[in-house]
Amino acid sequence: MKIYNTLTKKKEEMITVEPGKVRMYVCGPTVYNLIHIGNARPMIVFDTVRRYMEYKGLEVNFVSNFTDVDDKIIKAAIAEGVEATVISERYIEECKKDMKALNVKPATYHPQATMEIGGMLEMIHTLIEKGHAYAAEDGTVYFRTKSFAEYGKLSHKNLDDLQGGNRSLLVSGEEQKEDPFDFVLWKPKKDGEPYWESEWCNGRPGWHIECSVMSKRYLGDEIDIHAGGEDLVFPHHENEIAQSEAANGKQFARYWMHNAFLNVDNKKMGKSLGNFFTVRDISEKYDLQVLRFFMLQAHYRSPLNFSADLMETAKNGLDRILTAATSLKYLMQNSGAEVLTAQEEELLKEMDTYRVKFEEAMDDDFNTADAISAIFELVKWSNTNTATASSKDFLQKIYDLLKTLTDVCGLIVEKEDEILDARIEDLIAQRQAARKDKNFKRADEIRDELLSQGIVLEDTREGVKWKKA
Ligand code: AMP
Ligand code: ZN
Repeated sequence: MKIYNTLTKKKEEMITVEPGKVRMYVCGPTVYNLIHIGNARPMIVFDTVRRYMEYKGLEVNFVSNFTDVDDKIIKAAIAEGVEATVISERYIEECKKDMKALNVKPATYHPQATMEIGGMLEMIHTLIEKGHAYAAEDGTVYFRTKSFAEYGKLSHKNLDDLQGGNRSLLVSGEEQKEDPFDFVLWKPKKDGEPYWESEWCNGRPGWHIECSVMSKRYLGDEIDIHAGGEDLVFPHHENEIAQSEAANGKQFARYWMHNAFLNVDNKKMGKSLGNFFTVRDISEKYDLQVLRFFMLQAHYRSPLNFSADLMETAKNGLDRILTAATSLKYLMQNSGAEVLTAQEEELLKEMDTYRVKFEEAMDDDFNTADAISAIFELVKWSNTNTATASSKDFLQKIYDLLKTLTDVCGLIVEKEDEILDARIEDLIAQRQAARKDKNFKRADEIRDELLSQGIVLEDTREGVKWKKA
């Protein structure tokens, strides 16, 4: 299994710290609002990475945090006249609902920054003791960036080039820094803000320290994969490396994975541009499986454009897969033959090439775009090679492979009846529209398509009713 590592800018064979086990940390959202569709990309991508590693028999310890102390949360709390925790707890709950609807598995641990302050104070203390951090007069603690020789190794930035020896980079209020690139580990509280006591001042942590501390606490000093969106490479992940490696004296993470951004209608998503969508907005129009499928049709390191048309295309694509699964189930129920014929055995060998293609794509830095193409090929092959005369065993084997591969992608083909019902209702509505347009050919096609899935339509005075044959 090869992973593209931002640290080395190369695809590397994954060799884990502990054989057979993977320690993985993904930077989670700041919880001050409903998550937007951009936030959903790393969730879906890294959940799929996790699922594939589990499919390959690896045990994955997956940690993803909630940043629950932050300027934006405090601002939202002041606006509503409530405590910051009211805001963060509310949006953690909402985020978990969205994750469930996106079929993102809960992490092994979902730590929250405010519950890990003790660990942060400890790490900051260690950094000061080792000369990697210093407290300014007002109690702000800064990381001494120049003390960490490898600073810049992840983002491939050279501090001297950036800085050009020019101290004018110092912004007002930060004159107390030794160097413009020093960053905050701990800062004094402002009026009305949540704060914790510390040996330096009553205050709260800077953003970067939380991930170093939570990763250490739940996964150990050395982990395998650290991941997040590409905007986190600098400064967030660069700073995490500096803190963790300076404090622990060990390599922090072996592989750094970053997803590219999601744009909307080819523009950066932004509230002011009117092209901003929460995951919840999308759920009003689509089953969120469609959003998941849409995201996985692109490679995670490629920028992805979201638009209404592309979502429709994704819906149709996913429908093709779900329909194939439904047909297989229907054929199984109605098949008279139990055991595989010799010809079917031969065919199954052919089918296995799609599994191989799927795995090759995923082994190559989790190329879900090609992996989904392999699923489409399997669907096409299944549609061509199955019929009412097929044996139950044969149909079951095809169904099992389709289910296994879609499971790795977090797509559910064995959906509860309600989703199935929604698809049937959708087709019935399309048939009614076709009839209204006097397009009887299309209307008949839809009736036949439903019939092939075992759904019989009845035109009644109260409208169209359907039942399973
Ligand atoms: P935040 O709450 O801003 O810290 O973001 C949580 C996660 O979502 C981080 O991994 C970000 O990199 C990621 N993210 C934010 N916006 C986008 C976007 N438009 N496309 C892809 N990932 C994003
Ligand atoms: Zn982080």
